[in-house]
Amino acid sequence: MSAPATVIMTTRDAETFEVATGALCLDFVYTGGSGERSYWESLHEPTDLARWFQQSRLAVIAPIPVGLTLSGDDLAAAHDLRETLWRVVNDLADVRALDPTDAATLNTWARMPDLPLIFNNGRAAWAEPAAGSQLLSALARDAIALVTSRLRGRVRRCAAEDCALLFVDTSRPGARRWCAMTRCGNRTKARTRTDRHHHFDPEPGS
Ligand SMILES: [Zn+2]
Repeated sequence: MSAPATVIMTTRDAETFEVATGALCLDFVYTGGSGERSYWESLHEPTDLARWFQQSRLAVIAPIPVGLTLSGDDLAAAHDLRETLWRVVNDLADVRALDPTDAATLNTWARMPDLPLIFNNGRAAWAEPAAGSQLLSALARDAIALVTSRLRGRVRRCAAEDCALLFVDTSRPGARRWCAMTRCGNRTKARTRTDRHHHFDPEPGS
């Protein structure tokens, strides 16, 4: 089943750009977080979290129940799990072993009952009612699948010096460098051209 290829990000200059993160758990990391990432925060209310799941890759497999109701506790748990996922994907990008506490957190969530995919009038459907813990469990399982797959070595940080965005390079050649070519790729190329220009310009008075 194909998945939505990108998440939409907004820069501080209010420009939008699309990032192909390569994994469900990374899509979730892109919803915000602590510190610098709070700029991206999009999960302010439990309804934001429900809406995120309804537009996530899980919804491509089968629709997320429209009546999904999540609590403040679910939101707090989602924020905590997101911090864990952020550290985990950074560990992968830096080729470091996972922190045992983070691994234990992933396992705690992954052990929760999963969201069952059922057969409904000839179509796939997520069984209702869907609980927040089942959805968070799906995120933890996705992270565990990534950590233990061959793609773990393809988790990278954008090559732009001032960009901390991570992605899984799922391309066949595996030579992806940028979070998004339309943002960091072009920015960096423009800067390189400018640098070269300055380099060949004679200094004033020389
Ligand atoms: Zn970037």
